[in-house]
Amino acid sequence: MSSPKADRESEPTLLSVQGDDEPEPALLHRSLASRPHNVESASGSYLTLSSGRQKLDACGGAAVAIIGHGNTEVTEAAVAQMLKVSYVHTMQYGTDSSLELSNCILAPHPSSPNFDHGLVKAYFAGSGSEVNDAALKLEKQYFFEKGEPQRKVYVSRQQAYHGGTIGAISISGMPARKVPYDGIMMPHVEFVGAADAFHRKGKAETEGEFVERLVKEIEELFERAGPKNIISFIGETVSGAALGCMSAPKGYWPAVRELCNKHGILLHLDEVMCGMGRTGTYFAFEQEGIKPDIVTIGKGLGGGYAPIAGMLINDKIIDVIRKGTSVFNHGHTFQAHPVSCAIALNVQGIVKRDKLVERCAKKGEKLRQLLEAAFAGAEYVADIRGGGLFQTVEFMQDPYTKKPFPKHVGFGAKVQLTTFDLGVAVYPGAGTVDGEEGDHVLIAPPYTISDEELQIAVVTLKKAYDKTVSGLFKAKL
Ligand SMILES: *Cc1c(COP(=O)(O)O)cnc(C)c1O
Repeated sequence: MSSPKADRESEPTLLSVQGDDEPEPALLHRSLASRPHNVESASGSYLTLSSGRQKLDACGGAAVAIIGHGNTEVTEAAVAQMLKVSYVHTMQYGTDSSLELSNCILAPHPSSPNFDHGLVKAYFAGSGSEVNDAALKLEKQYFFEKGEPQRKVYVSRQQAYHGGTIGAISISGMPARKVPYDGIMMPHVEFVGAADAFHRKGKAETEGEFVERLVKEIEELFERAGPKNIISFIGETVSGAALGCMSAPKGYWPAVRELCNKHGILLHLDEVMCGMGRTGTYFAFEQEGIKPDIVTIGKGLGGGYAPIAGMLINDKIIDVIRKGTSVFNHGHTFQAHPVSCAIALNVQGIVKRDKLVERCAKKGEKLRQLLEAAFAGAEYVADIRGGGLFQTVEFMQDPYTKKPFPKHVGFGAKVQLTTFDLGVAVYPGAGTVDGEEGDHVLIAPPYTISDEELQIAVVTLKKAYDKTVSGLFKAKL
């Protein structure tokens, strides 16, 4: 188990050390010892810092800014909604913007018009954590009303991130983020291993055998907990920050779906990071041939123009609630916020109109070519993976034996900070291998990024990698 300090070091912030001459701000930053770079303005793919320096935003914050920054169509839609109605409470009132957003999200998407996701209702709140918590509660209520109140266990996976609230962090498989909170986590959460062929598949094992092993592990856990005691299985369709754009091996999700069906367990897919077109399809699970019971979305939904996230629900769950109390016993002051919904509606309208999911898939191919060309033969690059504009470069001391750099080297953080210094923001990741060791950087630029900007991002990342490597070499001499 790592210390809270180690966790802080893997925080995705690009910190400048607090200057002695500057007054202490009233704002509680992520760290009291340093403060983040102040951003003066942002436009397209670029951020302008207070220092006047420009940074190419090749990670959209945390895979959030899907249409880039400073889009005036969106700001106009926000103002128009505010002039109509800024806020009402959902207990008594509704607004067109939330109704239209639910229709927009659940209608067949133009990027895959024939795909049937089977989801019939949408619920909106302010963050990925909130909608994951809402999902945990709705899943429990579903069984309560169905006459199976004994179900109380959630099954999640190691190396998964589902958010920061007590519910969401309890179902997250990131020990470092739980350190001071160990004693107050939600009970009845069980974990299975990550669906991570790169680090976990044996050399002699085929992909099929590896999937069999993973499914057996899940089945054994189900049996141990008692399948009739389990509420849901929760997983990121494509693992985001913790494992770095890791897709499950082929056949894993269909097998998990089948296992859940066998025992009446709900399947909850967290697409807060990988959804909304990020991996090249509107939903990441379109590529897996399964239908989940509940899907959570977030980051890209409002493109960063508003704090908004969603929970999407299938008819199986809705039918039970309808026949029961017909009331979801949960709510938030800012749920289905009229302005947030109007903003997300506008962002998603732009995505549809400008065919940005299709563009994301195409630019993803370009990004992959550039990364593979730039890092061909690079000694410490162990893997380049991901799809769409959601890709990761993983670094190891010995890629052949898959030996990671010692943690104290901070290789990934060095690459990321050097890349930032050279003018490009990428998203750092540490603990890639087992939550402790391992280094990667994540690239998740706006879907609107140009080829030239992609080129700048990759060339700069490679330059930073080279500088980091020569720095290590010098340190050894
Ligand atoms: C970011 C993230 C969350 C949490 O979302 P917040 O908006 O930060 O609360 C949940 N799940 C996944 C997969 C994420 O990447």
